[in-house]
Amino acid sequence: MNKFNPNIIQVGISSCLLGEKVRFDGGHKSSAFCIHEMTKHVEFVSICPEMAIGMGTPRPAIRLVKQDQDILVQTRDGRLDVTQDLNTFSHTKARELDYLSGYIVCQKSPSCGMERVLEYSAKGGSPTKSGTGVFTRHLMQQHPHLPVEEDGRTHDLILRENFFTRLFAYHSWQCLRHEPVTKKALIAFHSRYKYLIMSHSPVLYKKLGQLTALIEDIDATCDAYLALFMEALAQKPTKKTHTNTLQHILGYFKKHLTKAQKEELSETIMKYRQGLVPLLVPLTLIKHYLLEFPIPYIENQVYLNPYPEQLKLRYAY
Ligand code: SF4
Repeated sequence: MNKFNPNIIQVGISSCLLGEKVRFDGGHKSSAFCIHEMTKHVEFVSICPEMAIGMGTPRPAIRLVKQDQDILVQTRDGRLDVTQDLNTFSHTKARELDYLSGYIVCQKSPSCGMERVLEYSAKGGSPTKSGTGVFTRHLMQQHPHLPVEEDGRTHDLILRENFFTRLFAYHSWQCLRHEPVTKKALIAFHSRYKYLIMSHSPVLYKKLGQLTALIEDIDATCDAYLALFMEALAQKPTKKTHTNTLQHILGYFKKHLTKAQKEELSETIMKYRQGLVPLLVPLTLIKHYLLEFPIPYIENQVYLNPYPEQLKLRYAY
């Protein structure tokens, strides 16, 4: 059985996305991005719920059918019903997966889809795009803070950037919780993430600051912290929130930079705000000044390097 490993980021994935021929029609849905890019940074744990319950391949296609308050999983003619098998497997399997730091699921699937899966009515009529695949529903219920994303949505650079920000942050959190956590360790964690949180949500940044300022029960605080932390990172940063964050960082250089250097950095931040240069430009200038004037508090900020540079995700902003 797999376990959490602080040195490896383990990510669950629908097997068909890795090119495994496990689909109902005997095919796969290989994702070039997952296979060629993500594998350089994470270790995949491949799961096909329909194969796991013994459906084999090729097999009849199944679909979600809403009947009163229940969601059934059946073939079109209703002769094969795998509702119970799929729910039992998904519930048990999802419980084992607490070592994962993220999950990429195959879109539209009645087992793996994250959202907008076709849901039919037992009474007939057109389906609605309102379902979630059975396995992914159990996964998200049991691990509500786990970053989960669909393969199709990773083509959108902003959504991809957000997924990787959450993935790497969640793994850092798991590393923190891997050992008994102390107040000091939680405060140090928050300190490193301050500006990343601020860039996503100034409101939750304040709430998280209040939470870490008054720690009585460390376990209860950690639970509350994780919920707000992941909620904050799920919010998309804007030019305004990035500008605000960059200006806070600029404040730390005041004593070190010459007037001309301060003006240059300030102008670069404003050019970013106006959409004239990408976020990478002020960030590169800040990193350059940090080499000249090391400021440990800023150097430690995850905001400057939230994920490996090779993913080229900073181009999203
Ligand atoms: S979408 Fe899920 S159930 Fe369907 S083939 Fe892929 S891994 Fe298997």
